Amino acid sequence: MSGWTCSHQIGEYCDLLKKPCDPGDKGCVLYGKALFSNPQTPSNEALKRREEIAKKRKERGYE
Ligand code: SF4
Repeated sequence: MSGWTCSHQIGEYCDLLKKPCDPGDKGCVLYGKALFSNPQTPSNEALKRREEIAKKRKERGYE
């Protein structure tokens, strides 16, 4: 059981995106911040890009 509840979720509806809740979809607060078991979730690719950018910044001494 998850202990996290999105403040934008009203039942099955996303009040932020004005459509049914789809965690990890573009515009979702979780987009690019979490890895989902569904490989089709756009968040996974965004997360991978963020990690690659962070790695490059670290290698170049920016962080
Ligand atoms: S789609 Fe994302 S932002 Fe919208 S209610 Fe679901 S978890 Fe929250």
